[in-house]
Amino acid sequence: MSDCIFCRIATGDLPANLAYEDEDVVAFHDLHPQAPTHILVIPRQHFSTLLDMEEEQTLLLGKLQRAAIEIARQQGLDQEGFRVVTNCLESAGQSVFHLHVHLLGGRAFTWPPG
Ligand code: AMP
Repeated sequence: MSDCIFCRIATGDLPANLAYEDEDVVAFHDLHPQAPTHILVIPRQHFSTLLDMEEEQTLLLGKLQRAAIEIARQQGLDQEGFRVVTNCLESAGQSVFHLHVHLLGGRAFTWPPG
């Protein structure tokens, strides 16, 4: 989608600080980091929200999680821990409607989240 900023990042049309990419997945540093490490992991293909993920997207969902795990290791977060979260729709805090996984680390997090 040409009007989607994350689609534009995935195609290289919009610059981003990339952390990882493969055939299906792109990851880049968040523009407004909420933790010392804050990386967004997205599918190259456009899906607006988690609710668009049907059974045929099961493998892709796994790839997003696997990428987050590998990036966490690369960032040295595998000893102290990290958080992986997806906001779905506005009340959960979703502001960009291209599915993405937040990988957050480098500080302690509270629970429940705000
Ligand atoms: P969410 O609020 O869960 O939809 O998360 C969207 C995230 O995208 C926010 O943390 C924003 O800071 C981040 N963001 C928005 N535009 C960009 C961009 N061009 N490059 C990197 N991160 C962005």
